[in-house]
Amino acid sequence: MDSSNRKEYLLSQKNKGKAIFGVFPAQYPKELLWAMDIVPAEIWDPPLQISGANAHLQSYICSIVRLGMELVIQGKCDFVDGFLFPHTCDSIQNMASVINDYMGPNTPCYFFYHPKAPYSGPSFKYYLAQLRELAGSLQHHGHPLDESRLRQAIELSNTISQLLKTLYTNRSRGQFRSSNREFYDVIRLGEFLLPEDHIQLLENFINEKTTPETGSRSSVILSGVIANPLALLDKLDELEVTIANDDLINASRRLLAPPMDTSVDPFEAIAQKYFNMPPCSTKGSNISERAKYIMNMVEQSGAKGVIFNIVKSCEPELFDVPNLQSLLKEKGIPSLVLDTEVNQALSGQMVTRIEAFVEMLG
Ligand code: SF4
Repeated sequence: MDSSNRKEYLLSQKNKGKAIFGVFPAQYPKELLWAMDIVPAEIWDPPLQISGANAHLQSYICSIVRLGMELVIQGKCDFVDGFLFPHTCDSIQNMASVINDYMGPNTPCYFFYHPKAPYSGPSFKYYLAQLRELAGSLQHHGHPLDESRLRQAIELSNTISQLLKTLYTNRSRGQFRSSNREFYDVIRLGEFLLPEDHIQLLENFINEKTTPETGSRSSVILSGVIANPLALLDKLDELEVTIANDDLINASRRLLAPPMDTSVDPFEAIAQKYFNMPPCSTKGSNISERAKYIMNMVEQSGAKGVIFNIVKSCEPELFDVPNLQSLLKEKGIPSLVLDTEVNQALSGQMVTRIEAFVEMLG
């Protein structure tokens, strides 16, 4: 299974009677969808040429939003039963309004407004209310929500969290043999696979690639939105540099939350998961909290530096990175800032900067 089989997989699930939802970045309660027989198919970086979306979006909108809208315009989502737009950032919100209010797809659109930091007592109640409202509105598509199925979905999600934690820990200790690209290929299959299928692949991957030896390759921490462009992962592999850990919005910042508490009400367990996630620019987290999170990764993995790979025009990241870079510099941790477009090649100048940075790390 790889991402090229994505549509085939989703259509096979549809044939089995499940509903398919196109879900835009980044955080949403996937356990709720699984429990209602809805398969979330996340839309981050479809491999498309952008043409039609440019007419609907301002020039300063990031390529993730541009590609998501292009997918809708080109009719490649015609088989989905609904769209879900989490309130991740202004650009996603902007796209959600354009698609829902002006483009009028025949597909129903749903919105999920999660609270931003700083969190206070009412934030938790607000999140719970959003969760229940979403569950109520999704009943039109999936099966009515059954508490035992939601608990089952939470157990499966916890198994995935445990497996991901093992993968990340082994990699950070140098006890994992995969290339950078292979690592993200496998974890990103969770963007559309049902949990049972992803669990099996993760288990196989861990068994195949874990090694007792400690690797001696140089390593860095990758921060940013997504492990894309692939050319960046390949370049690091070519330079024999391992990504020891990451601070990516579509990876550790949402995947490495501690397992959910199965002894409490399942809605509360899902809400707690959101508030226990690592700090993130799209949640308005405090900068020093984010810096601490990244510095811990550097310390625990022995990485020699941090690469901030910012998706061009990503406002939430652009607000945080200059301060993060200064805080890392105060601690003597070297960093490199790249601004890239997803699915694009690296420019010659960017390649030179990456090579110089890696050489400087020694
Ligand atoms: S890349 Fe940044 S601006 Fe674009 S959708 Fe993601 S968080 Fe929003």
